[in-house]
Amino acid sequence: MRRVSIFGATGSIGQNTIDLIRRAPDDYDVVALTGATNIEQLARDAINLRADVAVTSDENRLPALRDALAGSGVQAAAGEAALIEAAARPADWVMSAIVGAAGLAPGMEALKQGTTLALANKESLVTAGPLLMAEAKRHGCTILPVDSEHSAVFQGLIGEDIKTVERIIITASGGAFRDTPIEDLANVTVEQASCHPNWNMGQRITIDSASMFNKAMELIETKEFFGVSPDQIETIVHPESMIHALVGFYDGALMAHVGPPDMRHAIGFALHYPDRRKLPVERLDLAKIGQFNFRAPDTARYPALDIAARVMAEGGLTGAVFNAAKEQALDEFIGGRCGFIDMAQAVNRVVDVMLTREGLQNATITLDSVHDADAMARALTVEHIAKTKG
Ligand code: NDP
Ligand code: MG
Repeated sequence: MRRVSIFGATGSIGQNTIDLIRRAPDDYDVVALTGATNIEQLARDAINLRADVAVTSDENRLPALRDALAGSGVQAAAGEAALIEAAARPADWVMSAIVGAAGLAPGMEALKQGTTLALANKESLVTAGPLLMAEAKRHGCTILPVDSEHSAVFQGLIGEDIKTVERIIITASGGAFRDTPIEDLANVTVEQASCHPNWNMGQRITIDSASMFNKAMELIETKEFFGVSPDQIETIVHPESMIHALVGFYDGALMAHVGPPDMRHAIGFALHYPDRRKLPVERLDLAKIGQFNFRAPDTARYPALDIAARVMAEGGLTGAVFNAAKEQALDEFIGGRCGFIDMAQAVNRVVDVMLTREGLQNATITLDSVHDADAMARALTVEHIAKTKG
């Protein structure tokens, strides 16, 4: 039996992970499940999967979690320290699927235990890629990318030498507004931005897909995870979301990973790696699909892509600043305090301001320095948006 823990169990990735585990319950010994606000789901899954402990990040919800788990034998815990304690529990495989910068610390802790980390939390690589990768190396751990594009690249590289890679092409659906006239983007609503044409995901990543902040994050993730240089990474809009990424080699070959837009593929690949097992995903009927389309991304429509290029060029804590500003700008948009296109404008501005401060590019990346840069960038984002909108 493999001991598994799922951080962010109540979310979209977490629930897809549970779906796979449920299909072979005798293969897994569930150690910890974590959530934040959805106590009912967390307790239900923890009881059904006979987890050792269920943790909510929100201390105010501990009484509710205790009530929901009463008599089940599953321990209840809450708060940031409890998340770290859960990550320190011995496990063979840990899914990192908390949304946002909050996912970094539990993932780092799991690596300290020598665990295989299935990494959906892209913010870990964007804010602290070098730190995370060094920690994995120090403890001899494997990190398996779960973001579909990076899982695709990882699979394309099996048996290959990274030195023979010329370029990595990350595909993008184009999100909710890929065909919306640019002049209308100023007035789109949160509801409109929360509908993805192909993928069914959490609200935050769905809106980030519409703005392509998600793709911006993925370009940075690619650089950090695979250690390639920014000029080797390309983005192409592919509206069907069936080719997840392509790896281009020195001999001109392009290896594409093709599959249905279903996260259970990437999750299942990481769960069973290095084996492949049958997965409950749709088998593509290519004749029925007929064609795949591609277009170059328009950076006027998607300014986030240019910001990503800058973040990769500057390095250091620029990623942490970028991510925090992006998370805060998204909160402001969801909260009705700024418009859709104001997000990129604010993030750009905050990255600019923070880069003028000494040492951001060359700062040592630690959990503390990331935390401080994150707090500063969030405060500046709120301030900037209040000033420009007020
Ligand atoms: P969801 O919003 O669906 O789920 C997020 C999870 O994190 C939930 O379990 C939520 O708890 C929990 N959570 C929220 N805030 C905190 C916090 N401050 N501390 C601890 N836990 C918290 O997100 P997704 O599943 O869509 O995404 C998870 C991660 O995976 C993100 O980093 C995303 O970018 C990445 N990813 C997602 C993909 C997808 O298909 N969804 C694809 C590729 C990457 P609760 O629900 O109980 O409040
Ligand atoms: Mg992705």
